[in-house]
Amino acid sequence: MTVELKNKVAIVTGGSRGIGSSIALELAKEGANIVINYNSNSEAADKMVAEIKELGVDAIAVQADVSKSEDAAKLVQAAVEKFGQLDILVNNAGITRDTTFKKMTEEDWRKVIDVNLNSVFNTTSVALPHLTEAEAGRVINISSIIGQFGGFGQTNYAAAKAGLLGFTKSLALETARTKLTVNAICPGYIGTEMVQAIPEKVLDKLVAKIPQQRLGEPSEIARGVVFLCKDGGYITGQELNINGGIYM
Ligand code: NAP
Repeated sequence: MTVELKNKVAIVTGGSRGIGSSIALELAKEGANIVINYNSNSEAADKMVAEIKELGVDAIAVQADVSKSEDAAKLVQAAVEKFGQLDILVNNAGITRDTTFKKMTEEDWRKVIDVNLNSVFNTTSVALPHLTEAEAGRVINISSIIGQFGGFGQTNYAAAKAGLLGFTKSLALETARTKLTVNAICPGYIGTEMVQAIPEKVLDKLVAKIPQQRLGEPSEIARGVVFLCKDGGYITGQELNINGGIYM
């Protein structure tokens, strides 16, 4: 059964830029009210809020470093105070600190695990009581192909993204008897600032390895989120691969 997203409420962590902003926009186009979370760039978040409001839905921006449990609690509280409900949590915020394992510092390791993985415990644990009350609650975790096949210079990031997959499947099992579904999306290489940070020569080689021979668009990930929200009632504990065929 298709779920209409009109008047549903979604939190998108890291919703101010890149893939997250595209997810926020696509959910807003479906009629959902949006909570844009960001960490440092308030200008980008405010711009997204204005763009979303032009679509005729409501939106707020909430500064919260989701790697900190008190900030994540503040984020969920702000959503529920403003809108009185929470239906969709998209755990999208993420960073990279790429370097070979030999050169990796404890700080590189901890920062990436904190922002990409511990953040998901922080937000989901506070949001869960609200999401299980919703008529079609959704948790969608943005993992990565790197969590599936590893990445050179990415032991920290790969560990965090693979951890997200285990988390997704386990929480899906624990909540399967409720109306909540819990899924992960594993994007391939998507044309955002995160990927533009890869040196051009390395990026050209990566693109050559993608069967479809191009980077993905943020909106192609966002439409996957909309699909899971609207038509994913019987889909839980899954990894949705959106990657141009680079991992099958
Ligand atoms: P991006 O363009 O670098 O945007 C990252 C977003 O996360 C920004 O909104 C940023 O907000 C926010 N953020 C960073 N640290 C945060 C924190 N501690 N608390 C709250 N928000 C924080 O990244 P992207 O490429 O769109 O990636 C989005 C997600 O997709 C990430 O989880 C990434 O790992 C995953 N992914 C990306 C690709 C790709 O090819 N791009 C592929 C696979 C998976 P501020 O600007 O305010 O810091």
